[in-house]
Order: sequence, then structure tokens, then C-alpha cells
Amino acid sequence: PYTGPSAEEILAKRKEYLSPSLFHFFSKPLNVVDGKMQYLFDENGRRYLDGFGGIATVCCGHCHPDVVDAIVKQINRIQHSTVLYLNHAIADFAEALASKMPGNLKVVFFTNSGTEANELAMMIARLYTGCQDIISLRNAYHGNAAATMGATAQSVWKFNVIQSTPPNSAEDIKSIAGKIGKMVFDCNVVMFAFTSGVHHALNPDPYRGVFGSDGEKYAKDVQDIIDFGTTGHVAGFISEAIQGVGGIIELAPGYLPAAYGSVRKAGGLCISDEVQAGFGRTGNHFWGFETQGVVPDIVTMAKGIGNGIPLGAVVTTPEIAEVLTRRSYFNTFGGNPLCTAAGLAVLKVMEKENLQENALVVGSYLKRRLSELKDKYEIIGDVRGKGLMLGVELVTDRQQKTPAKAETLHVMEQMKELGVLIGKGGFYGNVFRITPPLCFTKEDADFLVDAMDYTISKM
Ligand code: PMP
Repeated sequence: PYTGPSAEEILAKRKEYLSPSLFHFFSKPLNVVDGKMQYLFDENGRRYLDGFGGIATVCCGHCHPDVVDAIVKQINRIQHSTVLYLNHAIADFAEALASKMPGNLKVVFFTNSGTEANELAMMIARLYTGCQDIISLRNAYHGNAAATMGATAQSVWKFNVIQSTPPNSAEDIKSIAGKIGKMVFDCNVVMFAFTSGVHHALNPDPYRGVFGSDGEKYAKDVQDIIDFGTTGHVAGFISEAIQGVGGIIELAPGYLPAAYGSVRKAGGLCISDEVQAGFGRTGNHFWGFETQGVVPDIVTMAKGIGNGIPLGAVVTTPEIAEVLTRRSYFNTFGGNPLCTAAGLAVLKVMEKENLQENALVVGSYLKRRLSELKDKYEIIGDVRGKGLMLGVELVTDRQQKTPAKAETLHVMEQMKELGVLIGKGGFYGNVFRITPPLCFTKEDADFLVDAMDYTISKM
């Protein structure tokens, strides 16, 4: 049994010693002390079905014994930096990842997170093309460091800069540099504009977008941005195939082929952010981009790929990867032996336990059951997603699509009381995100839907 501090004690310490920007789910936050497969346990040993853990960390289940075993074996042997020396774990995982990729995507760069992976991908695209302009989508989330903050298009992740006009003189630069400290990379390149170089295209959102499910019409906006907002040349385009933080939005069919076409004509590289939609989660496919039938030039991934161990990756072609021989890329721990041992164990478990197939079977069943709830309750405006990446959007008025923000929070809180955890997201915070570990069963799906049904029926 757990004998550590209580939730209240942890919260008090957190308030005193941790960043005030940390947020937590639920008005009475959960103190999670144990995890086993699709379940989490609180300090009193109460069990919760984890309908959201897949996104945050776990591909094959919390503390999956094979992954734990691989981690323990590796840490008992050697844990070190990725660079300087050889170690088979890094090379083995790189090889295994490359085997999951289409085309000539076979060169892997490892990072510690999704943000780092996307920062690197954007830098590679800029180096390769010699252009600065990147096109991203409104409603996108790609990370929150300097470059990715530009690609991310949600106001809460942005901030206003110290000086909104470009520096005119050395004095200006010095003054800005003084204020933002080490954000100075070069004597005349100051990161004064954290959103610079990124254009945000119309989001191809089939539920709320003006063109419904016509992906090609939305993609025309990418062409317009290139024609009217750039020199005609761009560094690249970055998007998810199904937006996660954005509220489980499946890009309208036909969007990526058309957008990739425009970007490639303008000399740019196409980056697919698979941090949430990759690794078998969509069921039918291993990668999100495959659902739109495209092959990107650069693929990024993170989150569940290490089953909770910090690990991210960028995969590209040998020709594109070559640009990083012109400018070194160093990452002390990105892809270290411990994390890559975990990554390889994840891929093996996924194969052994047929987790992609499970995502398809259980995910389709869960989506059907959620769609039945939509027929029952007016407040459910939309049910969407693929495999075990599903979204349920709540609206107070189906015609107006008025976001039911308070109700969304209420249902989440009540479901937690019933022992079921789900996430939320979307521009208005009114979309349930259901992204469990891939070992979720039909019984789990039934429990989740029953808990949601009961909660909504009591509202
Ligand atoms: N890309 C996507 C699609 C994400 O959802 C996230 C995290 N929410 C990131 C990138 C950034 O990943 P990390 O938090 O590991 O930096």
C-alpha cells in the first residue's frame, strides 16, 4: 500500500515549489501512485480506467512488464549520453523505426520530446530549402519552444514579445538581447518574434470549417498563402493528420495530397507530426499520414513511443538528412540507450500483442457506441476520430454549434467520480479526447460509454 504524502500535501508543495503555470485536470486533482496497463490507482488504491493515458505517455499499457524489463536491464548495464560512443540500443531502435516507414524515410534523429522533434524538423526544412516560411494550420499544436511556438496556433500558448517591430540598430538589438537573455543566437539574429516565419492556413475541419469535408477547397488556402504571402518559395508545411490538442480533428479527406502538392511545387518539405496520431493509434494504419495516402519528407514523433520514457524522433530521407552535416546537431540525451531500449520494447510489444489491430477493433466499437450516445443526447454535436483516437464535441445548440464548455468540464469531473478518466481539448475546450493505451478492451469501452451515458443523463 501507498504510504507517501496525500494529494493535499503534494498540492501544497507544488504551489510553493513548482511553476505556477503547471495546471492539473479536475478541481480535486488526482494523486496517481500506481499504474497497470489501462488502469491508474490513486493513494487509496481506488482504480480508474485511463481513457486518456495513451496520448500522454503510454502505447502498450502502464508499466507493461516487457517494457519495464527492457528498461531495468538497460539501466543495470549502461546509461549514458547518445553521442560520443557506440551502443547497440540506439542503432537497433533506429533500424526498427525505419522499417516502419514508407519510401526512403530511413534516417533517424532522436530527441527527448515532441517539441524538440518539431524544432529540429523545422530547422532541417529551413536549412534544406534556404527559406524561412513555414505553413502550419490554425488550431495546430506542435510544441512550445521558439520555432514550434510559431507553428502552434492557439492563443494560450503564445505570448507577446518585448518589441513588436524589428530592431533597427545595434542598440535595439542589445536592449532586446538584455531582456531576453540567452535567446540570442547570433549578433544580428534575435528571437524577438516568436511567431515569425510561420503562416497559418485555414483549418480543414469537417465539423466547423466553411468547406465541410472538401479537403481540396481548404488546401487552396495553402496555395493562396504561397502565392500572396511569400516569395513563391517556402521551407515547408507542418501538420498532424488528426489534430490532438486541437480537439481530435481529422483533416478533411483529400486535404494533405492537395496541400503537399502546392508546398512541393513551391520547393518546400512536408512534415507530418505523428506525436499523437502515429504508432498504430488510428488502427487502420501505423502512421496518421497514411490515412490521407501521402508520404511526407519528414516525420516527427514522441509521447507514447517510449511508453512513458522521454523519447522523440525525426525521420527523414538520407538526402535531406545530409543538411545536418553542414551544421552540427547535438543532443546529450536524445535517443540515449535507456530510452531507445524502451522504444524497441514498445515496438516488440505492439507486434506481439497486435495492438494496432486492437486499436482498430476496439476503437471502431467504441466509436459506434459513442455515436449511439449522440443519437440519444442533443448535447453531443459530433463524434469523430479513428481507432483509439476519438473525440466527442459537446454543444448547447446543434445548429449554432455553440461550445458547451462548462458541461464538458462537468461531465469529465463526474466521470472521474465514476472511475473513468478522459481528456479534453479543442479551440473552445468542449471536446472530449479519448485516447487510451492501445491495450483497451471492449469491456473498457462499454464502461467508459456507460459512465458518460449515466453522467449526461443526470445533467
Ligand atoms: N506535437 C503534438 C501533435 C503534440 O500533441 C505535442 C504535445 N501535446 C507536441 C508536439 C509536443 O510534444 P512535447 O510535449 O513532448 O514537447
